[in-house]
Amino acid sequence: MRDDYDFDRDWQLLVDGAFRDADDGERLQVADPATGEVFATAPDGTEADVDDAVDAANAASDEWKWTDPADRASALYEIADTIEDHHDELVALETRENGKPLDQSVNDVVAAAKTFRYYAGGADKFFSDTVEHSPEQVRQKVFEPYGVVGVIVPWNWPPMHTADFVAPALAAGNTVVLKPAPDTPLSSLRIAELAADSLPDGALNVVSGGIDPGIRLTSHEDVDMLTFTGSDKNGEKVLAAAAENITPTMMELGGKNPAIVFEDADMDKTIGGVIASTFYNSGQACSDAERILVQESVYEEVTSKLADALEALVVGDGFDEATQIGPMANEAQVEKFEQYLDIAQGEGATILAQAEPPSDAALDGGNWVAPTLLDDVVQDSRFACEEVFGPVAGIIPFSDEAEAIEIANAVDYGLTATIWTDDVSKAHRVASHVEAGQVAVNATGGGGLGLPFGGYKRSGVGRKKDFTETMREFSTVKAIRIDTTDDRPSL
Ligand code: NAD
Repeated sequence: MRDDYDFDRDWQLLVDGAFRDADDGERLQVADPATGEVFATAPDGTEADVDDAVDAANAASDEWKWTDPADRASALYEIADTIEDHHDELVALETRENGKPLDQSVNDVVAAAKTFRYYAGGADKFFSDTVEHSPEQVRQKVFEPYGVVGVIVPWNWPPMHTADFVAPALAAGNTVVLKPAPDTPLSSLRIAELAADSLPDGALNVVSGGIDPGIRLTSHEDVDMLTFTGSDKNGEKVLAAAAENITPTMMELGGKNPAIVFEDADMDKTIGGVIASTFYNSGQACSDAERILVQESVYEEVTSKLADALEALVVGDGFDEATQIGPMANEAQVEKFEQYLDIAQGEGATILAQAEPPSDAALDGGNWVAPTLLDDVVQDSRFACEEVFGPVAGIIPFSDEAEAIEIANAVDYGLTATIWTDDVSKAHRVASHVEAGQVAVNATGGGGLGLPFGGYKRSGVGRKKDFTETMREFSTVKAIRIDTTDDRPSL
């Protein structure tokens, strides 16, 4: 399946409905994370390309804003259908450029199509409110699109992230300039190609490239709203750039998520769940757990079962159906993983268990690490507080419910938390006290469409995936009053 499609082709930017090279002709190299082979190149967009894309999005804004919402919905349904028609190709492309196992790429591509359909279904049902309606007065609260939305996404779920922001932005009547991550530009470029025929020219523009086009997009005076998904360190820079123009921003940032295991949990379910929520997508999921908090009374049992479960996992090529954990998405991720393993051990942590990276010589050039569980992690240490965004988690003991909550909340992040217990009252109390945008009880993953996703504290501002919350993120609000009386205003 790796070579079933011609991915080494002339990938181009989408600007104003036309496909073109970067302004200066430069190209990014796109490498297969499992082998290191550069299998494609894509335009390395420039600031001038962003300027052109923003101009095009601005020019398209009036038409798209006033397009009948039912027609906007039809366009998004068409895009969802087209993504589904190209399912196998997009799945292969996702595993090729990101490295994740095929079944996880399936989830990503299916989610992308579902997301376009989800927002399509509501595009013509997102109503403004009439606050007062009488023969004398009409007072209305009106949702309006911002205009041009700049969307910046990372490399860990390229199809789904493209859909997560492009679909609601378009459904709400905005036009879009999207900048994908330099490591994984192809999924976004391909979805843009597939979507182009369903949209007016300029409604969706995609400029692949590195940081420069990203910086230009965040500081552009004609961008009316920004959404950024990435690290909190870069999120700070984006917020500072947006502040220059007072551009509204939606920020989806990092996490140091806890999985909290109580002594009364169903251990078979819990072990599988904690492993899944730690190592899904090679630990490169913002909802993954990097701290496993275990009640002291079951500490020995849980650590030993987690170690066995991790050692049994198959690490390998995402195209191999036996693979459960793929490579890291890029070399920088390998360096960061190794750096944090050193930091943790320097702080007193010990390696509890590791899964074996593949030994196949054909994969020698890939971005391999040994997925790891750490014991003896020191609370308040750098490892316990900073996001690694890789396949590693530290196990930390706690004595009781109060201490579990205290440790869970003792970081600057607040994205997700998972709680493992059979006591529903305890689950409810802990869920209420944990500082996280999403809490899962005896469940893993981000929750999917329909549940708002976003962070507390340094994990971000704003919510995606829930129709009402997200459509409001992509809309500004206007109050309109009409007085029909002959009354003359006076002081
Ligand atoms: P990153 O911050 O390095 O880059 C993200 C994107 O921003 C890329 O497209 C990059 O080119 C661009 N970028 C970087 N610096 C920029 C700047 N100063 N101005 C404008 N654009 C800039 O993040 P990453 O390493 O690609 O992704 C991993 C991070 O993303 C992790 O911290 C992870 O937790 C976070 N993440 C969060 C969510 C969420 O929903 N909260 C989802 C996925 C990933």
